[in-house]
Amino acid sequence: ADSKFAHLPRVPEAPIFAVMSAYKNDPSPVKLNLGMGVYRTEEGKPFLLPVVREAELLLVNDLEAAKDYIPTTGIAEFNKLSAELIFGADSHAIIKNRVVTVQCLSGTGSLSIGAEFLARHYKQHVVYISQPSYENHPNFFIRAGIAVNTYRYYDPETHGLDFQGLLEDLNSAPQGSIVLLQACGHNPTGVDPTLQQWEVIRQLMRSKELLPFFDSAYQGLVSGNLEEDAQSVRLFVADGGECFIAQSYSKTMGLYAERVGALSIVCKTEEVACRVESQLKDVISPTYFTPPVYGASIVTAILRNREMYSQWNSELKAMIERLINMRKHLFDALCDKGTPGDWSHIVSQVGMYTFSGLSEEQVAFMTKEYHIYLSPDGRINMAGLSAKTVPHLVDAIHAAVARN
Ligand code: PLP
Repeated sequence: ADSKFAHLPRVPEAPIFAVMSAYKNDPSPVKLNLGMGVYRTEEGKPFLLPVVREAELLLVNDLEAAKDYIPTTGIAEFNKLSAELIFGADSHAIIKNRVVTVQCLSGTGSLSIGAEFLARHYKQHVVYISQPSYENHPNFFIRAGIAVNTYRYYDPETHGLDFQGLLEDLNSAPQGSIVLLQACGHNPTGVDPTLQQWEVIRQLMRSKELLPFFDSAYQGLVSGNLEEDAQSVRLFVADGGECFIAQSYSKTMGLYAERVGALSIVCKTEEVACRVESQLKDVISPTYFTPPVYGASIVTAILRNREMYSQWNSELKAMIERLINMRKHLFDALCDKGTPGDWSHIVSQVGMYTFSGLSEEQVAFMTKEYHIYLSPDGRINMAGLSAKTVPHLVDAIHAAVARN
């Protein structure tokens, strides 16, 4: 008999994975990978943070005990420390037990469980996502049956924030809509609101009862300071209102493959928080029953120990310093070469990404002629660069820009 699935159309590969397979299959010795959002060393190698290695060595002795099931909500200490990391240990919401935190499968799992919870229990099935945003963002909500809209965010003219557009779009969103916000290091644009702008956004959102859902995947990888990169979230939590936060340790601890993250829901009262927690268990339980232990144990070991925590902060600082250095390098080299155009956004954008402004055609040209791989939207992962490879990228950009 014919397959019961013969009618299925093929789903195209996500653009970033398509770019990555093309890179892998390119035999050129000068090929350059500026695509997927992962940190790389100056030598182009994956970076195992020394503090992570240290935590792993501590854990090795305890591995046997680590194979039992843990609660559906994850490791309690991991949850507590993750909440303190993003909200601050002195957060009123934590002290008053108004925060529920559940360990999830990295940022992706946290967003997914959060979206499913909202689909089941929140009245307004509409979410607003920045234009552009991380390519997977709409999917969490579409799958959960929540309608996806966008708000203006990036101004291609200034390569900065379209603050007016953002405010107008949020202002015309239906009352109670969910708004997805990136806590810092906006992917893919590298453009963050200032703290003053966040305050204006907060006031507008609270006045319209819009529900903030923060995605925090780069805490520490913008300013090099964990506290400073949490300011946007803390501003919203400090007003006593409700708020969702998805946290990821993929980039910030280099734990991509371990899938470590947390979903926090800040509620109005402890009583509501308890009921919310029980409902989160009800979402998680049939999904994967309980989360994995190993990666979260690494994070817990680092967060609970003052010295390791400060070592982690120093290592983050060194990572972001390298990224900032690459920005300066690339910008200076384009200026020296006299490449037409204003490239100052390379140094004014923040975090891991530069939203270059190169068109899809220009990117395709750079790939074909120079073996340089980046997202079709022109996003450059600055961590993929090194002092050695900057000249090659500059030649490619120069040639791409000269063509039109
Ligand atoms: N959120 C943002 C803004 C991201 O950039 C990414 C990955 O690139 C993710 C979430 C998902 O990553 P993970 O599931 O590894 O946390």
